[in-house]
Parts: sequence; C-alpha cells; structure tokens
Amino acid sequence: MNIHEYQAKELLKGFGVRIQEGIVASTPQAALEAARQLSAETGTKWFVVKAQIHAGGRGKGGGVKLAKNLDQVQELSKQILGMQLITPQTGPEGKKVHKVLIAQDVYYPGESPTKEFYMSILLDRAKACPVIIASTEGGMDIEEVAHNTPEKIIKEWIDPSVGLQQFQARKLAFELGLEGEAFKEMVKFIFALYKAYNATDSSMFEINPVLKTSDNKILAVDAKVNLDDNALYRQKALAEMRDINEEDPLEVEASASGLNYVKLDGNVGCMVNGAGLAMATMDIIKISGGEPANFLDVGGGANAQTVEAGFRIILKDPNVKAILINIFGGIVRCDRVANGVVEAYKKIGQINIPIIVRLQGTNAEEGAKVINESGLKVVSAILLKDAAQRVKEAIGGK
Ligand code: GDP
Ligand code: MN
Repeated sequence: MNIHEYQAKELLKGFGVRIQEGIVASTPQAALEAARQLSAETGTKWFVVKAQIHAGGRGKGGGVKLAKNLDQVQELSKQILGMQLITPQTGPEGKKVHKVLIAQDVYYPGESPTKEFYMSILLDRAKACPVIIASTEGGMDIEEVAHNTPEKIIKEWIDPSVGLQQFQARKLAFELGLEGEAFKEMVKFIFALYKAYNATDSSMFEINPVLKTSDNKILAVDAKVNLDDNALYRQKALAEMRDINEEDPLEVEASASGLNYVKLDGNVGCMVNGAGLAMATMDIIKISGGEPANFLDVGGGANAQTVEAGFRIILKDPNVKAILINIFGGIVRCDRVANGVVEAYKKIGQINIPIIVRLQGTNAEEGAKVINESGLKVVSAILLKDAAQRVKEAIGGK
C-alpha cells in the first residue's frame, strides 16, 4: 500500500527523521492558513506548494511550485488543486489532485551550499535482507543514475538479526562526501530512517531528495513510503492512511470482494483460479492475438458468488471484447463452477460479448455439459488449445 508524501513525512518525523515541515490543505483558503501557520512556527517566508498524489515525478509535471509570498501560495494552490497532474509515473491520463502540501522552503542560501542526495531502503530479495541505497546524485531519476553512472550508487546491506551498525551509517555518510556537522546529522538521519523502516513493516522507503541545508541540517524533502500489505493486519493505524481516491476503482471493488484483480490495458478479460494459471492464461491470450484486460485470480474455492463478482468487475471495463474463464477443478469441482457461471450469467442479464469457459480437472465433462445445455451464449472448451482458438475467433482473428 502506498501513502501520500504528507503522511509519510509525519510518520518519519515520529521516528525522529528530520523533515521539510509542511501542512496539508484541500482548498486554497486552507493553503493560505497553512502557510501563515508555517510562517509563524518556522519563520519561513517562502513556501513550496506540492501536489499530493501517489506518483513520483511531480516536479517535472508541474505539481511542485515555489511561492515567494502568501498570495502566491493561494494562487498556486488554486492552480494545482483539482488539476489532472500528468507525470512520467501516472500514465497519460494523469491523476486528479485532491490535496496540496504547503511546505517551508528549505533551499534558502546561507553559509554553505545546499546539496541534494538520494536515499532508499528496500528489501534485497536475492540477499534476503534490507539494503540502504544512497547516492550523491539526489533529485534525479535514480534509474538513470544507476544506468549511466553505476559507480555513483552506494549500497549497504543490513543483517536483520543485528540491525544497522554505527560503522555502516558512518560509511554511508562518508561516501556521500559529508564532514563535520553534516556528517553527524546524516548518521542520525540514517539511523532514524532505518528504525522507521523496520517499525512500520515497510517494503520500500525512497527519500529523493535528502537535503543538506545551508546550515548543515539533513532532512527529507520528499518521502515515498510503500507499506507491506501482508503486515497491515498488525499496522492498523497505517492501514487507515489508505486513500482509495488514488486506486483504480475496479481494483478497490475487487479487493472488497476478496478477489485478486489487477487492471491492465487489453481487450480480453480473464477469470482464473490460481495466480500461476492466471499468468499462463494471460500468455495464451497474447499468443491468440489478444491482450489481457486484467489479471484476476478468484482463488481456490471459486463459487457462484466469486464468479459473479468477477464477471461484474470485468464487464465494467469498456475495453473488454471477450472473456476467458479458465478454471482448474482441483479443490473445487468443475460442474459447481459451471453452475456458478450460468447462475451469474443469468443474474447479470444482458452480456453482449462472447464468453469462453474452459474447465479442466475434476468433473470437467459434467461441467462442459452444464455450460453447453444452459442455452446461454457461452462457449465451453476443455483443452487450453481449443480455448485459445475460441478467443481468437471471438476477437475477430483467424
Ligand atoms: P517529485 O518530483 O514527485 O519527486 O517531488 P519532490 O518532492 O522530490 O520535489 C521535486 C523537486 O522540487 C525537488 O527535487 C526539489 O528540487 C524541488 N523542491 C522541493 N522542495 C523545495 C523547496 O523547499 N525549495 C525549492 N527551491 N525547491 C524545492
Ligand atoms: Mn522526489
């Protein structure tokens, strides 16, 4: 699960990570008041207005703007709130901005120059432990840095049984070229960040940029926090930070019905039991000349209710031109699934696109019989090869 920058920063602050202070607002008036309050608390005269969406690259898309007085805060908030923000990470349709973070400007000039760094913590699956990744090339697209100048990517692996060690944090701060006060600040920053990462059961933290201010403070200017969904049961307070505005509406509906659904861009909807079979089915769709419209795993115990919920969700996607149901009767019997399909079909009523049902496993033939005798416009197939051929015909291929 992702959370917004403003939520992530509050979270980090709670663990002693220094952040660029800010106040979230949903209207230009509230933004103005936020700026006044921020000014009173921090003495700042300049502000940044930052669009709050679950995607990076907001700066490039025009979602992060500097305001040099209160009028500009209000004016820029008016522009950004409600806009459809397009960034390299949102896709061409962009994301609607519902909130802005009014933050203190932390790039003011002073005794020493400001410097942007990159830092992230994530799970290295190959080494089975967390890794801290840092770079002197902050504020930039890190994938590009890794590609063009891999020597500028610093990595430190943490043994989870002993935790982050002093020497590791010092090594990172040293390799980032810091000294004196800023060095000490960076060591503290890294420790606080690692503590937060562990305590929140996160799967990824990305702080880009981490800023060294002109008075040698180290702080998080941006914060992307990805929480591990599997741990949300024991992170109730964090689970409440979910913002369904940011999620695909069909995915929200599917998760409410306990279905594992991921929306994709293709034209053939699919409903499958088991993630492995779902992946294989998507391959079959592609080989047949179609493009999968979604990933949908209805789970081992598919019944009439789950089939109906799956149907409804797939049918809401206007790109879907055919549906392939591919169920393996292992735990569940094929005739039960077939009855479920027929029942769901009748209940939903008018379905104008071809539906191909491929049932294999226990009672496969009984299942095919149920489908064929239902009198509905549902095509049954037992072999995957036949199912692929039916899909091809359905979408107008040979
Ligand atoms: P992202 O584009 O979604 O990654 O959003 P960021 O929070 O990283 O902001 C984008 C860029 O805005 C940063 O890389 C900074 O260069 C700039 N920025 C952020 N905060 C400030 C600030 O307080 N003052 C100034 N001048 N620039 C800022
Ligand atoms: Mn950023």
